[in-house]
Amino acid sequence: CLAEDKGDFYLLNGNKMWITNGTIAHHGLLYAKTDKNAGAKGITCFIMDYNLPGVTRKKIHEKVGLLASDTAEITFEDVKVPKKLVLGEVNKGFQMCMTQLNATRLGCSAGALGLSGAILEASIKYANERSQFGQQIGKYQLIQQQIAEMKMGHEALAYLVYKAAWLKDKGLPNTMETSMSKLYGAKEVVHAANECMKLFGSFGYSEEYPCGRFLRDSKQFETLEGTSNMHTMIVANATLGFAPNRA
Ligand SMILES: Cc1cc2nc3c(=O)[nH]c(=O)nc-3n(C[C@H](O)[C@H](O)[C@H](O)COP(=O)(O)OP(=O)(O)OC[C@H]3O[C@@H](n4cnc5c(N)ncnc54)[C@H](O)[C@@H]3O)c2cc1C
Repeated sequence: CLAEDKGDFYLLNGNKMWITNGTIAHHGLLYAKTDKNAGAKGITCFIMDYNLPGVTRKKIHEKVGLLASDTAEITFEDVKVPKKLVLGEVNKGFQMCMTQLNATRLGCSAGALGLSGAILEASIKYANERSQFGQQIGKYQLIQQQIAEMKMGHEALAYLVYKAAWLKDKGLPNTMETSMSKLYGAKEVVHAANECMKLFGSFGYSEEYPCGRFLRDSKQFETLEGTSNMHTMIVANATLGFAPNRA
């Protein structure tokens, strides 16, 4: 989006896909270019009022998962944005955006931890409930391997999430730890959801059980709040000393 300084107001044009709660929120943080030639140093943050004339919001209906979460495309057409809606300093929005993302990403990792816990719980219950060839399927070693993998993945993810949260609470550098929890969380939930569906046999493929929802919801962790490729780069660059690990 481009926000041009017109004296009393900014004239905003552009659009953004995939905005969570975009059709129901009254306000949202908007990062727009205020100096189109200055790259990252030409971005400003606005507390955007979505009820201003020229704002159109359209619900995105056909998502694979996260069906309980509202997602929207928002279009801005000659929107007159009052200058009092600027948050922080003009052209200093990029740094604010990175700080904000580092906080919301940790929330995303915690979401993955919750999902991995739900997958583990459902799998344990089913492995104890379902009997085949005269015994609970949980007694078979290959099912035990799946349960053991899910349990270890869940515990390892918990430690990554809690460590990143602890560092953040202390105001210590944590971008790398936050990215590790987000990246590992995405891998862990996609793997666990896949194993869970197999463990449930054909019922895993039925909407009567939550396995399909687990798998659909798990996939978004690989994309939103930074793709897995991006988090891999953050972890690698901080580890190799090419980029600082920031608070
Ligand atoms: C349900 C949902 C809710 C969302 N909510 C919000 C929201 O509230 N606010 C918001 O701003 N956004 C939101 N998003 C958007 C989301 O953050 C972006 O879709 C995501 O960051 C990926 O951007 P993209 O889709 O443009 O992918 P692209 O940038 O087009 O990437 C496509 C592929 O190329 C890879 N790639 C791109 N560049 C590189 C590179 N330099 N090196 C290596 N690989 C690369 C990516 O990793 C990916 O695999 C949401 C998305 C979803 C699905």
